[in-house]
Parts: sequence; C-alpha cells; structure tokens
Amino acid sequence: MKMIGASDLNQSYYAATAQAWETQASLASAEDCDIVVIGGGFTGLSAALACAEKGLSVILLEANSIGFGASGRNGGQLIPGLRWSMREIDAAFGRARAQAIFDLAYGAVDRVKNRIAEHHISCDAKSGHLEAAYKPAHFDAMQRDAAFLAQHFGWEAQIVPPQDVGRHISGGGYHGGIYDPQGGHFHPLNYALGLAKAAQKAGVRIYENSAAQTLADTGTHVEIRAGAGTVTAKHVIMAADTWTGGIAAQLSSYTVPIMNYNIATAPLSHADQLLPSDAAVADSRFVLNYFRLSADRRLIFGGGEKYVQQPPRDIAAFVRKHMVEVFPSLAHTPIDYAWGGAVGVTINRLPHMGRAGNVFFAHGFSGHGALVTTLAGELMAEAVIGTLSRFDVFANLPHNRFPGGKWLARPLATLGLLYYAMRDRL
Ligand SMILES: Cc1cc2nc3c(=O)[nH]c(=O)nc-3n(C[C@H](O)[C@H](O)[C@H](O)COP(=O)(O)OP(=O)(O)OC[C@H]3O[C@@H](n4cnc5c(N)ncnc54)[C@H](O)[C@@H]3O)c2cc1C
Repeated sequence: MKMIGASDLNQSYYAATAQAWETQASLASAEDCDIVVIGGGFTGLSAALACAEKGLSVILLEANSIGFGASGRNGGQLIPGLRWSMREIDAAFGRARAQAIFDLAYGAVDRVKNRIAEHHISCDAKSGHLEAAYKPAHFDAMQRDAAFLAQHFGWEAQIVPPQDVGRHISGGGYHGGIYDPQGGHFHPLNYALGLAKAAQKAGVRIYENSAAQTLADTGTHVEIRAGAGTVTAKHVIMAADTWTGGIAAQLSSYTVPIMNYNIATAPLSHADQLLPSDAAVADSRFVLNYFRLSADRRLIFGGGEKYVQQPPRDIAAFVRKHMVEVFPSLAHTPIDYAWGGAVGVTINRLPHMGRAGNVFFAHGFSGHGALVTTLAGELMAEAVIGTLSRFDVFANLPHNRFPGGKWLARPLATLGLLYYAMRDRL
C-alpha cells in the first residue's frame, strides 16, 4: 500500500536520525492470536503493547514500516488535551462528562512520559509548549480558556503577555500566548520505534510490509488476509488512522486525510536565539505554523496544508515561505530535509473511537494525536477484555460522516477547510 501524496519517509529528518530497528518479515503463513492490530503507528503500537501486558497473544500488521504513517512524520509537538478547549467541551457535554474527558485527555501526557521512562525510549523528549496568538482576539480567548482550565480542572498553564513572548520565540509578531510546561516535544519516529521494541519484548509478533487486505468478522472471530498470509483472531484493533477505507469502508467516511508538510533546516548556530526556552510552538491559526528545535539544533517547521493528494513539487520551498514569515533571518538557511504526511481529520476535530462487532477502532486525532494516541491504544486494550468505562468516554463522543459519499466527501471537506483557512487571513 502506498500512502496517497505522502513523500517517502526516508526523506524525513526523523528517518535519517532513527534508532536502529531490524526490519520485520512480512506475514506469509496462517497464524492465530487473541488480538490482531492493524497499523504500526502510536495507536496500534500502544494498543499492542497494552494487550500483551494483559496476557493476550497479539499480532501487529503494518502495511509499510513501523512509524510510516503520521506517527513517524509529525511535528513532534506534545500538546496536552484535544482540539477543543475544556471550555468548549464543558459547554457541549456538561461538567461530569467534561471531567471524565479531561481526566483522560490531559492524563495522556503522563501515559507518554511513563512509557518513555519505563521502556527507556530515547526520543529527545523536552518539556514546554507555547500556543502563540496570531491575533489579539485569539489571545483573549486563550486567556479565558486557561483561566477556565485552572479554575475548574486544576490544570495550570502560564499566560504569556505580548511583551513576554520574546522569552520563548524571537519573531512572528505574536500577540501573547499560553505556555504549558506539561507539554513539550519529542522525536516521534524514535518514540514509535521504542514502543515497537517494548511491544516485541512483551511478546507481540510484528509483521511489516503486510497490508491487511480483507477483514471478515464472522461474529465469533475475525479473519484478516495480508500478503501471502492470514490471521485468525478474537478481535481486531483498527489503528490505521485515515487509511481504513480498503478494509473497513464503514469507518472511512468519518475522516479525511489532509496533507501537511515539514522541513528541517541545517543545524543553526543561533538556534537558542530563535527559541530561547526550547519550547515547541504552535500558533493559533486554523492552518497553523508549528515549530521547534531538534536535539541537534535544527529548526523543524511545519506550515501550510494541501487539500489535494499531490504534494507540492518543491516541499522545501512550499514550507520555507511560512518559516520566513516567522523567522526572516532564515530566508537563505539550507533546508536539509523536507517531507509530508496525512493528518486524519474528523468533522468536529475530536477523535473517533468505537466498536463495530469484533472490531475496535480509534482514528481521526485531527492533528492532536502525538499524546492522545498512546492513551487511545490503551483504552482499546481495556475494551477488548471488557473494561469499557474509560473507552466509552471517548466512544460516546458524537460524530458524523463527511457528507458526499465516496466521491464527494473529500471535495466538500476541502471547501469547508478552505473557508476556515481564508478566515485566518481576514
Ligand atoms: C505532518 C504531520 C504533522 C503532525 N504534527 C503533529 C504534532 O506536532 N502534534 C500532534 O499531536 N499531532 C501531530 N500530527 C498528528 C499525529 O501524528 C497523528 O494523530 C498520529 O500520529 C496518529 O497515529 P496513528 O497511530 O493513529 O496513525 P498513523 O501513525 O498514521 O499509523 C497508521 C499506520 O497504519 C498503517 N496502515 C494503513 N493501512 C493499513 C493496512 N491496511 N494494513 C496494515 N497497516 C496499515 C500505515 O502504514 C500507518 O503506519 C501530525 C500529523 C502529520 C501528518
């Protein structure tokens, strides 16, 4: 399976600096297990590891290589919570549900930190995340959100007035921001590979280059065909993010893939001047710019989205123009790596989790998946053994399919996204 419009992972900074990983064989025989996990990103790896820890036998099928999807390509920004503020969640669902969502979504920070610590995952993890206000009105809303979060849920983030933004970032002309010391950044591919090694140690059988092609749920068990082999299992954990279409068509209309692009500059001698607190930064636009420093002092910058599958002819040039808006001094800085990936987005930007027969699924983290996916995998591992209370908090979130069916869903979603992108410019 080749991802639409995605540039090859080998061109990414992450692939060039990945920890050693022995490529795993493809599935070539008939196997059985308790749980078959489809997808070797954060969600699938976390689910597989958590299932194995519960004593279940697990097979993980990855169509390409571990971390090939968004998990090995993302901006590495660890942003606590979901795309909705707790103020929005509280208004939509009421305090009791909001508290349950808060406990999980913000508790996800500790789940990632615990996995890193317990499995000694070397992934350049750093603390500190700044959400930077692109407009004064955005800063007003951010302050209200931060005050609400502190007052009702006890989550303390720091309000950064406009005159203090320079402590975190020199450039961009931002109108204030919120600094969250509990957020941060990491090398996402190395986190994924660390999870994969931990899962293998716990007994998970991982097959790479093994795209699941068909899925049959008989009611008592499931059968998956992948490459030259088959797997029979009690349950499937579907963790293929926005690529579920080929095998679980009923899920695919809940997400659309939005292409997003990243670059890594050459190492910068003045990196500390650009981002003095070494925080990851994401701005408050709908089509946001986000950036951070790598361990070897490169600027890793993400900016600009494409609603067509085809990547820009020159990804580096496409992203550079956004980077130079924020950091004009980097206009002629060499760009060593440029890559892209698909962000699986739901209509309401909340993750879509649930169960259909013997298939448990979690996808559509809508650009906010670096933290919550680890938790989502663990919630599915709880659900397959019948512990549903935490899984149901997410599974009960309301979701709609993208309208337009197989052919029109994407163009219609594109129109909606273009509208919001246009509002950024007003
Ligand atoms: C460019 C980019 C930047 C991002 N930046 C951030 C960020 O800074 N912070 C943040 O929180 N989130 C970010 N995200 C989102 C985040 O990366 C995702 O939400 C998260 O990685 C999703 O993880 P996943 O495991 O669910 O899916 P993925 O990582 O996409 O994994 C799905 C896997 O399933 C495999 N697969 C697909 N079909 C099959 C099949 N039939 N059989 C077997 N395997 C299959 C794919 O090859 C893939 O490896 C970004 C995403 C992108 C693309």
